Amino acid sequence: MLQGKNALVTGASRGIGREIALELARQGANVAVNFSGNEAKAQEVVEEIKAIGRNAIKVQADVANETCVKEMVKEVIGEFGTLDILVNNAGVTRDNLLMRMKEEEFDQVINTNLKGVFICTKAVTRQMMKQKSGQIINVSSIVGVSGNPGQANYVAAKAGVIGLTKTTAKELASRNIRVNAVAPGFISTDMTDALTEEQQAGMLDMIPLGKLGKPEEVAKVVRFLASEDASYITGQTIHIDGGMVM
Ligand code: NAD
Repeated sequence: MLQGKNALVTGASRGIGREIALELARQGANVAVNFSGNEAKAQEVVEEIKAIGRNAIKVQADVANETCVKEMVKEVIGEFGTLDILVNNAGVTRDNLLMRMKEEEFDQVINTNLKGVFICTKAVTRQMMKQKSGQIINVSSIVGVSGNPGQANYVAAKAGVIGLTKTTAKELASRNIRVNAVAPGFISTDMTDALTEEQQAGMLDMIPLGKLGKPEEVAKVVRFLASEDASYITGQTIHIDGGMVM
């Protein structure tokens, strides 16, 4: 499906990003594994991708830092020659009720989860325009559609990502660059494992399919959007949420 394609996945050392990196590699892509802190974990993903038979490198950058991101993109293109797929996956949470949320908690989540998508997208666009092709997939969240108490910062960022996806899709369509988003619901990762048992039970009540999602179930949709099978889809946000938000 992705034979010969070159991909960059942000926040790929663990969780959903790791699964996306591995899934793209299984379908034939070489993958640059972005990480911000945990180099050893990123190296493990690189080794796993190489074991599949693809090329892989790890690239450190804080997605919210434009200078670092530009360097990262330069390094990836220097190594792979082209850049066909960008997956904007990196994200953080700093949950608090609105009345208690500190300005720095709001700023940190917006900077990583929304500004980071803008910076990384801008950084790859020139190369994709030159190639006259590219796929950009943004990882939003279902709460960006529905809202969620205690997550004003996160919800604002993820809703922003959906708007950014639509605008970028419109701006880049004439250059044969497709831009789409996925909106996962509750997926079993370190992010959701950090919730209390009571919070997890409350989550299950809201999911018609009655179970949490798996990172692979997000990765497979991202792989589809990155492939030619999705050649007439752009500007869309696909919900991967067990039916939570219809
Ligand atoms: P995770 O915490 O396991 O992974 C997030 C990754 O992003 C980590 O590797 C982290 O190091 C990286 N990261 C954080 N800040 C960064 C920065 N400034 N620069 C580069 N990398 C950075 O969480 P996850 O559940 O795998 O989440 C992945 C994405 O999916 C996030 O965007 C998250 O908001 C989204 N999401 C997750 C769920 C869920 O239920 N787990 C639901 C909806 C959306």
